Amino acid sequence: MATASEALRGYRSRRDFCVTPEPKGEKVAQRKKNPIFVIQKHAARQLHYDLRLEIDGVLVSWAVPKGPSLNPRHRRLAVRTENHPIEYAKFEGIIPEGEYGAGTVMVWDKGTYKNMSKHNGRVVSTATALKHGEIKFFLKGKKLEGEFVLIRTDYGKKKGEEWLLMKMKDEYASARRNPVSTQQKSALTDRTMTQIKREACKKEPAVCRKAPKKRARTR
Ligand code: MN
Repeated sequence: MATASEALRGYRSRRDFCVTPEPKGEKVAQRKKNPIFVIQKHAARQLHYDLRLEIDGVLVSWAVPKGPSLNPRHRRLAVRTENHPIEYAKFEGIIPEGEYGAGTVMVWDKGTYKNMSKHNGRVVSTATALKHGEIKFFLKGKKLEGEFVLIRTDYGKKKGEEWLLMKMKDEYASARRNPVSTQQKSALTDRTMTQIKREACKKEPAVCRKAPKKRARTR
């Protein structure tokens, strides 16, 4: 297992903490509580939903362009991104123009999860499931509940980085409910994306000012 510091190297190397209000993530949490999850709605160049699961003290992350679905027939592309620090689960605000992931971030859903992963019929840890490319987890969030699965695919240009997020069939599955479009407010502060942006700009006008173009930063 990589040390936490290694696990967050990618996160830190992409960010200038003098400019972005995102957490530095200096500590890696040694937690004994139920693992947490968060789904952040992120209006970057392209709107997407970042699903993050606590595994070994960091938030292992996937960008889901369409967001989660409760319909077990839907396969939602989930592109693995860099691990984030645990404190990131409470981050809501604006990543300034010119910075990595510039745009508004909302905590769309949050809660805890129960690991349901198995390999060859045996229960395995989420860390092991991550390595094997199949993680099953039962979410207890404010908006989402029930069992989901993430499966790594061999398709796509970035081999190994593309996963599929699917709802398992259970009592929480639904072909009709669509929380991504019907429940659009923050699970943390009950604000809309517009309110988050407006309040962040009022509090810290610098983050809303357009920065001069420097190094090209994507995503
Ligand atoms: Mn993102």
